[in-house]
Amino acid sequence: MKSTMQDFPLTIGSILTHGTTVHHDSEVVTATADGVRRESYGELGARAARLAHALRGLGISGDERVATFQWNNAEHLEAYLAIPSMGAVLHPLNIRLFPEQLTYVANHAQDRVVIVDDSLVPLLARQLPTLETVTHVLVAGPDAAGADLDALRASGKEVLDYATLLAEQPEEFDWPAVDERSAAAMCYTSGTTGNPKGVVYSHRSSWLHSQACCTGNASGMSLADRMLPIVPMFHANAWGLPYAAIMSGASLCMPDRWLQAEPLVRFIQESRPTMSGAVPTIWNDVLRYLDAHPDITLDSLKLILCGGSAVPVSLQKALAERHGLTIRQAWGMTETSPVASMATPPVGVEGEEAWRYRGGQGRPLVGVEARIVADDGAVLPADGESVGELEVRGPWVTAQYYNSDDPETGAKFHDGWLRTGDVGTLDDLRYITLTDRAKDVIKSGGEWISSVDLENALMGHDAVAEAAVVGIPDEKWQERPMAAVVIKEGASATAEELRDYLATRFAKWQLPDAFTFIDQVPRTSVGKFDKKVIRKAYADGELQ
Ligand code: ADP
Repeated sequence: MKSTMQDFPLTIGSILTHGTTVHHDSEVVTATADGVRRESYGELGARAARLAHALRGLGISGDERVATFQWNNAEHLEAYLAIPSMGAVLHPLNIRLFPEQLTYVANHAQDRVVIVDDSLVPLLARQLPTLETVTHVLVAGPDAAGADLDALRASGKEVLDYATLLAEQPEEFDWPAVDERSAAAMCYTSGTTGNPKGVVYSHRSSWLHSQACCTGNASGMSLADRMLPIVPMFHANAWGLPYAAIMSGASLCMPDRWLQAEPLVRFIQESRPTMSGAVPTIWNDVLRYLDAHPDITLDSLKLILCGGSAVPVSLQKALAERHGLTIRQAWGMTETSPVASMATPPVGVEGEEAWRYRGGQGRPLVGVEARIVADDGAVLPADGESVGELEVRGPWVTAQYYNSDDPETGAKFHDGWLRTGDVGTLDDLRYITLTDRAKDVIKSGGEWISSVDLENALMGHDAVAEAAVVGIPDEKWQERPMAAVVIKEGASATAEELRDYLATRFAKWQLPDAFTFIDQVPRTSVGKFDKKVIRKAYADGELQ
């Protein structure tokens, strides 16, 4: 029997219409060099309509790709709403990609138009001549008039001022009916090996993912909230937080390019978000800043969502105990939209046991299924002990990569499940505990050593600001752990002290053979610890 219900498509257009009418009084606050600028959701809707008209005027039709090269700000949100809602495909470009990767992804996606922030014009100008399919560039932002447009025009592309173009357009757009299974947006994985791979989100997957992100087991976001996405809008669509906020009527606080701890803290004080999301390295920086400025309290923030890499319990505890800030760990990947699981302890679990749960990757959100699989493909029991690769499936998990000719991509899928490349366990409540990424696992004498466990423990030492542990080649044991450690300013610790400290928690054979002291752990383009740079520096003899 068929249901009697309306077949009403789940589209970004419906998020736009709902958010900018029902919640037209909510606002976007964007950080500026000397304060903030504000736009209501009603204005956001009108400007999205103007942008859609402008893009149609430039010839954008069907599912053509429109790229953004922008920080987190009001104009980027306008693009987030307008592009998918008009039936085109949003492609946020990672501004920190290596030049050849940027060229690759823009050409692979066949981007037609790029919207660029005024502050990023010089960066884009260098690459623009190599972006073969781009015909137009729109320069957005309060200082667009002062940007060096000639540098962009040298590419031969047409360059237009975003604000002037929008001012000429009507404030309403007749948003077309869009198939919920069609493409809304695309993101490329940062590609640690080979070329980046494209993931194409559908309207339906983005809608369902946004809604799941708003549920109480995830963020619990509502119209009473103010969300600060620090995670860039080019990193897995800022974890879906912009759409989730607009859907729920929560106001958005956008930090633009001011991502250092000091301006970020100032922006938090001024825009008063209740929630935020960023990778652990950002919160580590904020923690250090707050420790150095005990007079500052961030009392508006009631929940911090954190993920992208393991979130050390020591970081969570320090923020909670010294600054009253609550972190909730999330796990996900570009391939999973990205939020797939959230770490909330079981009801009634308190104290150290609760911290243990918060230090893991949590339970899957409704819709996402998880399993652990052995090397031979056999599904392992969810017993909290059997270690294998985590596989997931669900309505916002990708089933393939976009037009990929990489022969290895097939190996990323297994009987309709996505192989995550993450290694860990699943317990009977389906809590995921990851011990490593498969490529970071240290294999010593046939045994696995978890680099993540060692890092988390090291970052719990009073003198340690950051730590990354990698496997280095060893004749006898195949690989042995080496810890690259950043010592806090004004503190000190020797290799022997750190080794003794770890010896209270780990078996002797698991302890790093070598400690190397560095100024900062290298970061990937999305702000995670970049272990391949450490491995290469060691191989090149730059670290020992
Ligand atoms: P990249 O591969 O460039 O890091 P993604 O942002 O898609 O791109 O990264 C996804 C990966 O990040 C996951 O497969 C996992 O290894 C790691 N990750 C994400 N969240 C967590 C978490 N909470 N704990 C541990 N690892 C995480």
